[in-house]
Amino acid sequence: MEDFLLSESELEIKLKARKVAKSIPPDLIRAIESETKKFPREFVDINAKANMLGLRFSKEYGGRGASWVADMAAVEEMGYLGFTLSCMYSLGTIVGEPINKFGTKDQKEKYLRGITSGLLYGAEAITEPSGGSDLFGMMKTTATKKGKSFILNGQKRFIVGGQGADFFVTYAITDQSAPNRTRGVSAFIVDRNTPGLKIETMYGLMGNKGGGTARIVFRDAEIPAENLIGTLNGGYDIFNTMMIPERLTTASGSIGVGMAAIEIATGYALRRKAFGSKLIEHEGVSFKIAESLTSLANSAALVYEASKAADAYEMGRLPMARARKLISMAKLNSTEAMWAAVNSAMQIMGGIGYTTVYPIERLLRDARLGLIWTGSSEVMKMIIQHEFVKEISRPDYWEGKRVVEQDAIDFKLVEEKVYE
Ligand SMILES: Cc1cc2nc3c(=O)[nH]c(=O)nc-3n(C[C@H](O)[C@H](O)[C@H](O)COP(=O)(O)OP(=O)(O)OC[C@H]3O[C@@H](n4cnc5c(N)ncnc54)[C@H](O)[C@@H]3O)c2cc1C
Repeated sequence: MEDFLLSESELEIKLKARKVAKSIPPDLIRAIESETKKFPREFVDINAKANMLGLRFSKEYGGRGASWVADMAAVEEMGYLGFTLSCMYSLGTIVGEPINKFGTKDQKEKYLRGITSGLLYGAEAITEPSGGSDLFGMMKTTATKKGKSFILNGQKRFIVGGQGADFFVTYAITDQSAPNRTRGVSAFIVDRNTPGLKIETMYGLMGNKGGGTARIVFRDAEIPAENLIGTLNGGYDIFNTMMIPERLTTASGSIGVGMAAIEIATGYALRRKAFGSKLIEHEGVSFKIAESLTSLANSAALVYEASKAADAYEMGRLPMARARKLISMAKLNSTEAMWAAVNSAMQIMGGIGYTTVYPIERLLRDARLGLIWTGSSEVMKMIIQHEFVKEISRPDYWEGKRVVEQDAIDFKLVEEKVYE
């Protein structure tokens, strides 16, 4: 996100995030990569000390009451650390947002304050073995009310923070008879020490090491009824709210990852020689740099617009559906631009880019996940077209707009306009 787009306070947050990102010891990243560090809790502590966690939440709960724009500007800076740490940084905002919007005062007091102080680290346990894209259609986890408790049964897959998190925000079916599954699911907070919660698989991953990514099983896991977030069977609206930070943070973090790779590759191309001149002087190389920078800037502009849309939604000036469309576009665009940029960076660097002498190979492995998680590229496209079709199906969309179809020479040949 270009600095000149930001307000003074937004820029201050972005620069603070840059300072924190710069301060992270390279040894920590190396330890994560070599898997000697399974879950870098100290990264949370560093951010807590800098008062950089849960930026969006109110000052009452230790946040800064920051805008979505400011929060995403900070996440972009964290992207320079790679996806593991930018995700770890973002999780506080992701799991805190449903509590921030729908939680009780007690829940906010415990969990939002826990997040901003770094005392509690939250993770999201949403995906199930039966499906991530069609989550609501394929969900199997159930929560049954029993006295003053809910009993959870089921399992959640690929959970970052499965190892290491103190609590999970999760979703479970609470009304099997609901005519539409979206009306029969509820959201819950599940503490790590809940009896019946067990980690059963720690995944070996291509990239994004150090997130403690696990499968979590709930076997008659009993949680207090007050851990229900919002209303019973109100999980779908909570899920949609949670997807704002979920997708925006991946979108903004991707810009940082992509820029880091292109900056390294450009530095290399300025020094490395072939055929009598520096690599940068070969058009085949310099155009790759120009194209990557352009698509990353294009993506950053869309992240800014989508973050502004999220802020406008907060203020009641934009419907959720409009914000969702832009956020999905930003997630799709940024992750694809990041992937292309990191791939170009590797090509520019030749063989050495493929080795662990430079971090491009790590960024490449990390980047691949961006197109899959938090809603895959295909799911983003489904949302974008769905929201657009809904928009143009409403008469008010066309109010005051030119009807361009009428400009065709043979517009009046209605008998040629056959649709079935
Ligand atoms: C390392 C890692 C970390 C993760 N972290 C978390 C986490 O912390 N918390 C969490 O809850 N989840 C997490 N996830 C899960 C992630 O969000 C899901 O993997 C993702 O949403 C895709 O779901 P799936 O793997 O079940 O694939 P599926 O839903 O089975 O989809 C498989 C493929 O089919 C495509 N597809 C599905 N439906 C359609 C359609 N209608 N049209 C076209 N294509 C379609 C998908 O795009 C995808 O390419 C993580 C995953 C990984 C790998």
